[in-house]
Parts: sequence; C-alpha cells; structure tokens
Amino acid sequence: MKISSFVVKDPPQNHYNHAHQVPLVAASSFVFDTIEQGINIFDGVEKGHIYGRFGNPTVDAAADKIAALENHGLDGEAFGLFCASGMAAISTVLAGLCQSGDIILTQGDLYGGSSALIDSLTARGVRRITADLRDTEKLEDILSENPSLNTVYVETPSNPTLRCTDLVLLANLTHHYGARLVVDNTFATPIGQQPLKHGADVVVHSTTKYLNGHGTGVAGAIVTRDKKLMEEVFVPIHRLHGGTGNAWDAWLVLNGLKTLALRMERHSSNAERVAEFLMLHPRVAAVNYPGLPGHPDCSTIGKQMILHGGMLSFELVGGLPCAKSFMNRLTFCTLTPTLGDVDTLVLHPSTMSHRSLDPETRLANGITDGLIRLSIGIEHVEDIISDLKQALN
Ligand SMILES: *Cc1c(COP(=O)(O)O)cnc(C)c1O
Repeated sequence: MKISSFVVKDPPQNHYNHAHQVPLVAASSFVFDTIEQGINIFDGVEKGHIYGRFGNPTVDAAADKIAALENHGLDGEAFGLFCASGMAAISTVLAGLCQSGDIILTQGDLYGGSSALIDSLTARGVRRITADLRDTEKLEDILSENPSLNTVYVETPSNPTLRCTDLVLLANLTHHYGARLVVDNTFATPIGQQPLKHGADVVVHSTTKYLNGHGTGVAGAIVTRDKKLMEEVFVPIHRLHGGTGNAWDAWLVLNGLKTLALRMERHSSNAERVAEFLMLHPRVAAVNYPGLPGHPDCSTIGKQMILHGGMLSFELVGGLPCAKSFMNRLTFCTLTPTLGDVDTLVLHPSTMSHRSLDPETRLANGITDGLIRLSIGIEHVEDIISDLKQALN
C-alpha cells in the first residue's frame, strides 16, 4: 500500500498501521489518489483531508473528543473545532457572532485576554455591556432595552473569585430575547460542568489548562450543537483567520484527555481539603471555593456543577506585603501565571492576570491586593497543605 493512500483515506480512529494511540500526523497537506477523489473531497462529497490549515487527522480527533465530552449524555450531535489557543477559539466565535452594531453582554470578572478582546471590538462597532450576570432582574432590563444585544458571554466559575452564574436561567433569558449564549468552560471542564446541557449555544475552551493538564502546550477549542453555525460561520473564519491548532498540541491534548476525569476528581478533592484548611486559618480572611457550604452561589453550584474543580482563591490578612511574603516563602507550590496543571500553581491576580483592569473595577470584582489564586494540583494533599501552612506562619 502506498503510504500516501492510507494517510488520506483512513480517519485516525482506524489507526494507521493499527497503532493503539491516535498517531501524530505531521503533514501540511494530504495526497489525493486521483483528481476525481480530490474534487470529491473539495466538494465535501467524500471525507478526507486537504490542507493542514483546514484540518488534520490528529487535530480533528482532538476536536471530536472534546465535542463528545461536552455533549456526553445528550441526544444529537455536537461539533468541535480545535484552535491554536483559547484566544483563537474565543476570537473566532466572537468574530462569527458579532457584527458592527451588535452588543455583547458579559461580566466584569472575565479572563483578562477575553476582556481585552471584547473591548477591542469597539473599534469594529461592537459594543460591550458589563453586568453581574447573576442579577436576573438587571439582565432582563438590559436584554429588553437592547434589541441589538445578540451575544451573552459568560465564565462560570469566574476568575479569580469563583463566582458562579446559573446557566439554565441565563440561557432561558438569553434565548427569550433572541441572543446566543457562549460559555467559557475552561475552569470547570466538561467533567465538572456541561454548559450545553444547561442551554449554552457555544462552549469555548483554553485546552492549555485542564484538558492538556500538564502545562505542555497552548491550544483551544470551540464546541456547538448548531451544525449550521459551526459549518457556515465558525469554520470559514477559523480557516481564513488561520486559527487552526497544530497536530503536536492536539496530540498532547488527546493524551491529557485520557486522564481528565481522574485528574478532575483529584483536583476537586484536594481543593476541597485545602479550602477547609484555609477557612480555619487565622491569617485568612475569606476563601472562594465552589465546594464550600457558605459559597454565595451554592444553590446554582448544586444545580449545575458535577465537581467543584481545582480552582480557589483566598484573601490574606495584611494586603500586598503579606501576599508577597507568603508567595515568596512557598517551596512546594509554584508561582506561575497559568492554571489546570497537575502541579499546584499560585498566582497574584492584582499584580498579574488582572493588572490591566483599573483599580476600581478590580475592587468591584473582589480582586484585592491580598487575594491569592490557587490552582490545586493532584499531588498528595498533605504536601500542598504543609507548604501553605509554613508560608502562612
Ligand atoms: C487561559 C484562559 C483563556 C485563554 O486561553 P489561551 O490558551 O491562553 O489563549 C481563556 N479563558 C480562560 C478562562 C482561561 O483561563
């Protein structure tokens, strides 16, 4: 058999050379056996790959698997797109949904990049309205007063304060006013929460975080059950803007997905223990974790979160000087501006991830100088707690 012929014809599920794992296909283009076959593939009559920017067996396998996870337990199909980064996924979705004159409704405590991206759309005539998306009355007012509001964009749990928005309520309101709901599910992952089940139209991911899980690559994904929206809106933008993810990153994500459920269970149970430890510590003024009984959004959390996840933040007594000395004393936990790795990671939102927000907006969203964000890893929980304990004392 010609090597080229089976590269073109066999989807990765059929395993080239009967490989047990999805192979990493490093190819910028794919070979047609005949001109007729080439035309059929271009026409979409026959399945096959054409050119790396349009798709690749490894990349498509990752997209399909993420879509299947987000769609788990639901009737009907979901469609996935694997992107070069979380931001490539988000920018493709927003470029597809929002044209000049449209309005995006979103929250103040968004991932910094997403917030900056939405703000940058002003130059293209897309307006942003910012509100607490948990405030149903306010939402209803905003939606009813703004007929050109066509996109609601939400992160739940939010970063870094872990506030949680009721997705069913938000989806119902959004749809009642003819808009679409986009959910960034990076924090919860499909193991912890399935936004499509609660009515979301589009789910986006930074797979850089939990889905890869090991801090080895940057990538993202888009999932929707709306075939037309995927095929006619997102796919053309994705291809034309060049936002396709590469095979190596897709392969790393496929590897990570094999242990995602196991990791999320451990991230969650470890975070639960760490949150309980911090709650009782005299130097800690407050702990934000979806798994704590006193969480202000606990009824929402009970309805939509399967696992509480590995993200938490806490308010240290003593503000910035104490936050700095705490972080410098850590020896086991790592100071780094990412999340979702197997290792426990620490970040100081007000000087790092949320530094570009003006101080007033920061404070309004609970991001004080004493706030510290932890991405709890899957290590032995006693190792994490003893490091936190010695750094707090
Ligand atoms: C990291 C992150 C992003 C951006 O993803 P990249 O892969 O860095 O482009 C978007 N949303 C959330 C919630 C994130 O944590």
